[in-house]
Amino acid sequence: MTRRNFIKYSILSSLSVSPLFAKDDRVEIFLPPKKLNYYHLKGKKAGGRVLIIGGIHGNEIGAYKAADLLIDNDLKKGEMLIIPRSNFTSILANVRGYNGDMNRKFNYISKKDPDYYYVEGLKEIILSFKPDVVISMHDGYGFASKSKRAWGQSVVIDELRYKNFDLYSPAKFVLDNANKYLKYKVALINTKTFSGKIHPEQKKALTGWCLENGVKAFCIEASKQLPTLKEKVFTHLVMLREFFKLYNIEFDGGNDRLVKNFDLSLGDKPKLILDVNGKKITLKNRDILKVKKGSIIKVVDIDGKRGDFIIPVGVNLNWSSFHFRNLSFNIKRDYKKIFSIDIRSV
Ligand SMILES: [Zn+2]
Repeated sequence: MTRRNFIKYSILSSLSVSPLFAKDDRVEIFLPPKKLNYYHLKGKKAGGRVLIIGGIHGNEIGAYKAADLLIDNDLKKGEMLIIPRSNFTSILANVRGYNGDMNRKFNYISKKDPDYYYVEGLKEIILSFKPDVVISMHDGYGFASKSKRAWGQSVVIDELRYKNFDLYSPAKFVLDNANKYLKYKVALINTKTFSGKIHPEQKKALTGWCLENGVKAFCIEASKQLPTLKEKVFTHLVMLREFFKLYNIEFDGGNDRLVKNFDLSLGDKPKLILDVNGKKITLKNRDILKVKKGSIIKVVDIDGKRGDFIIPVGVNLNWSSFHFRNLSFNIKRDYKKIFSIDIRSV
């Protein structure tokens, strides 16, 4: 497994809004950039090329957790790129779209939009990786098999067929086989993005953009209303296993292993490593940190798992540096608060 970051986008995404104050007695803090991390798995044997995208909607926990679980496995056959947290700001806030719906920005996005570098980064990664298929993962509302307005528990296609792409047959294969293992059955949704009038907004979505740019793409959705996170993740992994069959992807130890005994436990808590006026401080638990007025604090590292980050309470999450006198910070693992610290200037 190799881990790479899109350096270009990492730098651009660290754009910060630093108010133009004269040097004052307040504390200034510098948070790390929220990188668009992607993870590359490559098997020794030739197979298909699959690109997995999770977390475009930040409150769809089953989707990004399932994508994240794939990363710690080794591939035997084929090649895979996994972007589990496409919209990390929204994941940390645990909302659909902290800066509006990211999945409506793929046909056009303003350079001023805080999501700009993530959306453009995703597009660039897709076009440079040249996958056989993109799978965009979501947790939708309700149950598609029971209501026409629900998106939960489904495979979503933009058309039965789009140009050279047969979208219906692979989706049908995934549905039929996945349903053998699922208590909450998945259904097919065809949005008729290009031929119909009901879902024109889907042209702005990731899969619509992919198709228009010659890349085959599907959405898979668990339901937000499944009783547990484990069942949401299971739904995703069972559907992915069928896509992996279709696209000639094989993990070490077999693909069945993915859906069994996956670990959602919290594990080790993160450590927060700060540089306060040039001095290193490590914090592991709830704490009150008193610093001198005018101090400069840099968050050196959040030593933990993927998805660990520090966010200020009550401050715009797009900012990566700002001034304050007294402020609380939450150290989170994705949506979950692990501990908090209060920084007070004295
Ligand atoms: Zn979604």
